[in-house]
Amino acid sequence: MNLIFVGPPGVGKGTIAKMIVEKFKIVQISTGDLLRAAVKEGTGLGKKAKEYMDKGDLVTDDLVIGLLKERIAKPDCENGFILDGFPRTIPQAEALDESGVEIDTVLNFTALKETIIQRLSGRRICKKCGAIFHITNIPPKIEDVCDKCGGELYQRDDDKIEAIVNRLIVYKKQTAPLIDYYKNKGKIVDINAELPLKEIFENSIGALE
Ligand code: AMP
Repeated sequence: MNLIFVGPPGVGKGTIAKMIVEKFKIVQISTGDLLRAAVKEGTGLGKKAKEYMDKGDLVTDDLVIGLLKERIAKPDCENGFILDGFPRTIPQAEALDESGVEIDTVLNFTALKETIIQRLSGRRICKKCGAIFHITNIPPKIEDVCDKCGGELYQRDDDKIEAIVNRLIVYKKQTAPLIDYYKNKGKIVDINAELPLKEIFENSIGALE
């Protein structure tokens, strides 16, 4: 089962991906997570990527495509994967097609702009295990502490309002054209991400079975 999740930042792709991978025993590949790991490690790629990420701009296609291809070649991807945050441009989608990877379904998560801003600005992430929380929608039992591993929760720099506004503009301009790209291939299923988390999850599973 090879899936792609598209949708604006903050729509809930990462949260739903984590629930789906658990159910279907496949892996989640988030290019955002891979890039943040490279930034943290201070690799050459991480240094190049950081400037773009801090502003909420897209990292260049060549860097991200290289990173993704390397990840997808690992043995744990054999059972299937969810691409969460990739492709984000038409050239990235074309590179994926050219690599021979077969995609079964593309879930397109949709929500209102106000919902997205509310979700992004309240999002908190565990420094240790990457679990995703929200100060009001998915609050941790103890403030700023991860329920799963006890790690410290933090707010991503690009979840601050100036970067959020730019990320939404970038999404509309560079990523939204992918919806038609995959529609033309008959692979898109729309998922209403305004609904409560449990229903989004159930509808996502329904689209895959
Ligand atoms: P995300 O965690 O998916 O919201 O990604 C965080 C940031 O990483 C984005 O705002 C981009 O700067 C960068 N990024 C992640 N995935 C991609 C991609 N497929 N293409 C270009 N930049 C990306």
